[in-house]
Amino acid sequence: MDIEKVFIVGSGLMGSGIAQVCAQSGLEVVLYDIDKEALKRAVKSVEWSVGKFVEKGELKEEKTVIMGRIKTVSDFSDAATCGLFIEAVFENIDLKREIFEKMDALARPEALIASNTSSIPITEIAVATKKPERVLGLHFFSPVPMMQAVEVIRGQSTSEETMLKGKRFVVRIGKEPIMVNRDVAGFVINRINFPSTMEAMRLVEEGVTTVEDIDKGLRLASGRRMGIFETGDMVGLDVTYGALMSMYKETGDPRWFPPMILRRKVKSGELGRKTGKGWYEYDKDGRKKTR
Ligand code: NAD
Repeated sequence: MDIEKVFIVGSGLMGSGIAQVCAQSGLEVVLYDIDKEALKRAVKSVEWSVGKFVEKGELKEEKTVIMGRIKTVSDFSDAATCGLFIEAVFENIDLKREIFEKMDALARPEALIASNTSSIPITEIAVATKKPERVLGLHFFSPVPMMQAVEVIRGQSTSEETMLKGKRFVVRIGKEPIMVNRDVAGFVINRINFPSTMEAMRLVEEGVTTVEDIDKGLRLASGRRMGIFETGDMVGLDVTYGALMSMYKETGDPRWFPPMILRRKVKSGELGRKTGKGWYEYDKDGRKKTR
């Protein structure tokens, strides 16, 4: 059976973006969060972003039609009607396991259960379920409506059928699947990107250059649309820190230990756009302040 309805757990930056791309592709979405304010913020941000796409003529449907496909909920009562679950809560293994246990108990037998984790092994989350063969990673990148790649990750027990259905879903929502055939720390894209991100942080820490010059250099020399630090502020410094710590714990490899400058910033609450200060500072509308 094709996936026509998606249940998303967590309506933050990623969950709201995933809800948007699913709704834009004609899928019904149930968006769940324990925080009612987070749900309200999610609807507002999706509305704004869909409006932008409609203005630019990039979407054929009316905003109201697309928004009409997203239902926000404060419990799991719609769970049995959904063909796919995507978990996008905080990067915390105990929380994710608790949610996976619940989703596994409520989902119909053929439904898939996915995590958007940046770094926790899928196998470690799947152990909370009775059917780990239907558990996979669907790792979206931020900002979800713009980024085309989605990693489709195989856990130790993920079945071939689950991988194929996951791949088909990614194509169905207009994204490009990147198949990850082994459950390794950081999967593929972060494993490649994190070393340069950490090197950029160390160059700032050592006083070699500035955040601004690294971002400018990367935009002008590597064709990136956003610099490493601009992206870091959007993603959240706590998210990058959490991902690095989880890769460090999983592998024991010191190369993944977060640089001091990142540890200090996270400790002092400089988490990026969401707190108004990270590598850059932001005004109350989220616009970057010029220095
Ligand atoms: P976020 O902090 O923006 O949102 C998390 C949401 O989960 C919050 O709204 C919170 O209220 C909700 N939540 C917490 N506990 C819950 C519960 N028990 N039930 C329901 N909802 C609950 O986080 P985010 O940046 O969207 O990240 C979510 C996941 O996606 C993390 O695993 C992260 O590592 C991963 N990820 C993040 C990025 C990124 O760029 N931020 C990229 C790829 C993957």
